[in-house]
Amino acid sequence: MTIKIRSNKVLLENELREATISVKESCIVDISDDRGTDVIDYGDAIIAPGFIDIHTHGGYGCEIMEADRLKIYQWLSHLPKEGTTSLLISPYSSSVLSMRKAIDAICTLEEKRCCADVLGVYLEGPFISKRQLGAMNEKSVLAPDISKWQEIVGQHERAIKLCALACEADFDFALMDTLVSKQVKIAGGHTDMTYAQACNAAAHGMIDFTHCGNAMRGIHHREVGTLGAAMLLDDCYCEVIADGKHVSFELLRLLYKTKPKDKLILITDSLSAKGLAEGDYQMDGILVTVKNKAAYIHGTNQLAGSTLSMAQAVANAVQYGGFTVVDALHAASLNPATLIGVHNKKGQIRVGFNADLCVLDSAFQIQQTYYKGKAMIS
Ligand SMILES: [Zn+2]
Repeated sequence: MTIKIRSNKVLLENELREATISVKESCIVDISDDRGTDVIDYGDAIIAPGFIDIHTHGGYGCEIMEADRLKIYQWLSHLPKEGTTSLLISPYSSSVLSMRKAIDAICTLEEKRCCADVLGVYLEGPFISKRQLGAMNEKSVLAPDISKWQEIVGQHERAIKLCALACEADFDFALMDTLVSKQVKIAGGHTDMTYAQACNAAAHGMIDFTHCGNAMRGIHHREVGTLGAAMLLDDCYCEVIADGKHVSFELLRLLYKTKPKDKLILITDSLSAKGLAEGDYQMDGILVTVKNKAAYIHGTNQLAGSTLSMAQAVANAVQYGGFTVVDALHAASLNPATLIGVHNKKGQIRVGFNADLCVLDSAFQIQQTYYKGKAMIS
């Protein structure tokens, strides 16, 4: 069966324009100006490619380090509400055994039970800097080591799409060079790199910066650090948690002004607490308090991952970050698709691409999400 949806603002390449999208099975088969009676008309709503969240740890009570497949399905079932149709799941620094279990759980999900496309794993640690832990547990930090890496990923090496590293700890680039040769993309993350070290890391294949501004060496006027490098290295992507808490909206504007627009990536970095009521929750042995739409390490002001949705990240990027609507939508779809190498089938509305689409009103609230051509919100 073919379904047809249209609006006056369909994101096609770099513009929003009137179009009708025909979808058959899970694929976009035609883009036209058809206005027949069988067309679902969304009027002035925006139709955009489904969002791709490449950095998230959980939500709605699911914490990836618990490695509980039923809870993961439950989490994924909520993602259409925020426009997300694809994601990488991010196990973070913990014991080798629990990282292994989390990866195992992600790689053995049954596709038909998932309400979003799990494209693989973004490993956030354990080869990170003790100086830039963020909410990570110091005890789980390891020195870069390929045999440890192999122990963690086991038989699932090919599922690892991205790995956050404190590149400065990989003195001889042995781990980085090996990962790059295995097609794993390297992100500088939880890192204390100087500007010069970041430039060296980029020369060895670092292509992305993990949540820019968070858990990285900041800008000093004589040594612009990792954050300065993130802004200045045009070939590298910058992930950003655009919730106005992890970074100020002024930093969001600075990133937008300094980076090539195709290198900005909106992420949620969300935790199990997303979608839950305010209160205290256990997160891999750490007590986390949810209040004022953010998660903090209990009794402190230290942020412990976000409760952000992708749709809200897009809204904030436009409203407070100065992004154009098109640039914000690309930062949630095309740019992450390109970084992780799925841009031949996802991230744009094109004939032959996956029919993963979201419909947003003028305040970027999700009205409908199509995953594999199926309307997910009833
Ligand atoms: Zn994270």
